Amino acid sequence: MGKKIGLYIHIPFCKKKCLYCDFVSYENVENNLVSEYFNSLQRELIFYKENYDIEIETIYIGGGTPSAVDPKHIERLIEFIYSNFKVKENCETTIEANPESLNEEKLKIYKLLNINRLSIGIQSLNDIELKVLGRIHTSKRALEILELAARYFENFNVDLMIGLPYQNIESFSKTLETVISFGPPHVSVYSLKIEEGTYFYYEYDSLKNYLPSEEEERSMYWLAVERLYDFGIYQYEISNFAKKNSECKHNLKYWDCESYIGIGSSSHSFFEGYRYSNVSDIKEYINSIKNGYLAVDTKEYIDDEEMEKEYIILGLRKIEGIDLLKLERRFNIDFMKKYKTQIEKLKKYGLVEINSHFRLTKKGMDLANIVWQEFI
Ligand code: SF4
Repeated sequence: MGKKIGLYIHIPFCKKKCLYCDFVSYENVENNLVSEYFNSLQRELIFYKENYDIEIETIYIGGGTPSAVDPKHIERLIEFIYSNFKVKENCETTIEANPESLNEEKLKIYKLLNINRLSIGIQSLNDIELKVLGRIHTSKRALEILELAARYFENFNVDLMIGLPYQNIESFSKTLETVISFGPPHVSVYSLKIEEGTYFYYEYDSLKNYLPSEEEERSMYWLAVERLYDFGIYQYEISNFAKKNSECKHNLKYWDCESYIGIGSSSHSFFEGYRYSNVSDIKEYINSIKNGYLAVDTKEYIDDEEMEKEYIILGLRKIEGIDLLKLERRFNIDFMKKYKTQIEKLKKYGLVEINSHFRLTKKGMDLANIVWQEFI
């Protein structure tokens, strides 16, 4: 039986770079380079086919903006995967899309390709917020796409952002209620992080007066938790909410420390005991693969001690927390004994709770970084 993995495919192309974005993505790339990139993805897959016996349980096509490329590339890639690997029946297959590059025609093609989950980068339905973020879609376009997504896809995710310049609790509430009215089975709510190297980072001084306070940002977060719950969209991870049985199986693999292989520039893998990442530069990626080498940039062996820490930190991201029986069996430890000091300290501050599971409290979710620190 093959080793079960999740497959992540990075498509690093976008129509236009958003002003807060620190993902590896390139705008206005010539068609030739896009074609070469997709050829390299196939070559990278061949390496795994020739060296390992794997069964693909989930496929996640992320970016960048996968919907920005000609769907013929996606079609060739998916056909290649199905004809070269064992793929689980009804394999959860996600494609990320943005409103400006998605249309009904593409949705129909994706459906024919066994893509059964769509993840749409809506971020906000307020035109001022969208403009400041440098997003190129309008709220009108986003609404049209939400309507199409709900019509064509049983399973779709809507990405929303909080903590945006000019955003306030009213504007977020309006966005949230409108999104809920489309009945999404899955919603992700991410806080804006101003990362080094982005336009927002360099313009922080002129932006900071327009950012909501931390308190306001937290209110938006808890409003999302509450309102989504009212509509049966339950929080199952710090930033993720889903109707029952619509949780993202692919992302759960990350939080459960299961194996996944990332292909494409800047993709990350956890496979055969190693965490590794590919080079970010697409030309370097293409050349390396063309010359018969994997385009690995960083690689680290994860020993048991390291794995245990990752298992705790990632597991705490899930609302149900960590099943202590599973943890103790997997790492052959007495959790309460080994982490007595950390647990007592975190409990004293009301950041964690323990029964059969070890999990964050509401307060712990707001201060999750402090909890992670205890296990690093
Ligand atoms: S669409 Fe997404 S990946 Fe592309 S530039 Fe904007 S935030 Fe970055």
